[in-house]
Amino acid sequence: MGSTDVAMEPVRFDQRTPRERGLAHGEMWRQEIGELTEIRIALCVEDARATAGGDGVQAGARVRALAHAHVDVLRRELPDQADELEGIAIASGRSIEDLIVLNQYTDLRDVLLHEAASPPAEDPGGCTAIYVCGGEGPVLGQTWDMHASAAPYVRMIRVIPVESEEELLCFTLTGCLALAGIGQYGVSVAINNLTSTDAKLGVIWPAVVRHMLAAPDAATARARLFALPLTSGHNYMIGDGYDYFGIECSGELKVVTQLGARAAHLHTNHCFDPVLRARERVPLSTTSFARLDMATTLYAQQRPRDLAGLWEILGSHEGHPRGICTHSDDEHSDPGASRTCGRIAMQPLHGRMRAAAGCSRDDRPIDMVLERFRGRSPPTQQA
Ligand SMILES: [Zn+2]
Repeated sequence: MGSTDVAMEPVRFDQRTPRERGLAHGEMWRQEIGELTEIRIALCVEDARATAGGDGVQAGARVRALAHAHVDVLRRELPDQADELEGIAIASGRSIEDLIVLNQYTDLRDVLLHEAASPPAEDPGGCTAIYVCGGEGPVLGQTWDMHASAAPYVRMIRVIPVESEEELLCFTLTGCLALAGIGQYGVSVAINNLTSTDAKLGVIWPAVVRHMLAAPDAATARARLFALPLTSGHNYMIGDGYDYFGIECSGELKVVTQLGARAAHLHTNHCFDPVLRARERVPLSTTSFARLDMATTLYAQQRPRDLAGLWEILGSHEGHPRGICTHSDDEHSDPGASRTCGRIAMQPLHGRMRAAAGCSRDDRPIDMVLERFRGRSPPTQQA
């Protein structure tokens, strides 16, 4: 199945409890979860062998032990997310450690490659994220660039438990809690992967995203992020229409590098903060700097102020193959290369989200609205 065949119509999960929701998720995508788990375990085992040596059995044991340690942290810090992940594991016939590898692949990779002498050659995933503010309010969007093998597993889910007021629209992968999205209070989160050198044990990042999306406002989402131990680097872009925070994180540090709901903000996959820059090891083949230059140029030329304008920039092939919609045209190119597997854009003041899978040349976006949208009221002016 090619990525362009992926149906992005959001799948509805209205089960009452996280565990029931996880069971439904695991049952629905049992096959896909099994396939993606195998792909990601193989990639992690390869990384473990490359750095620590040993045979495949020893490397496999190392990956499993690392995943197991992450289960304990998740249960302690975010028990609801642990319940949901366990439900997914049970219904898909996998271990919860397998599901940790599926969710936490890029971060586990940073832990495993920690001792390597040189930067990783391959870029495990990127993303170009842009926040703009126009007459209709802010729009936060991004491309989702990742290991090309993940392309067929991109999905949208609507988490809407019965007898509650909760609702989340999440861009995700089969078996994954969330990659990015919007919650019923308009809190929107976009992500850029960062390659940190201080990776350690932490909460799996898709669970962090889910926890932030459910927050009543962006400031609370930021506080939730700061309260959790993380494994490795990501840049989190958080907006609710009235506040905006861009937070660069490594395994150990968290730094607010972007502020201001009325400004424009861009980010790719390298750190802006000088302290964090000393704790990252950007992959040799990265397109991060080229994409940031291109996004900055396109922003200056086009001055996007709404969803349509932002969507156009996120789909740009200018500078191809190192453009914003990033991929090689060569069918036989390295399947490990990073490519754009999807695009999303959220409108926090309207409770809306747009998503599309694959390359922008096959643009078939789906527009979604939160059914329980309860956008927060404007902040009161401090006297
Ligand atoms: Zn493309």
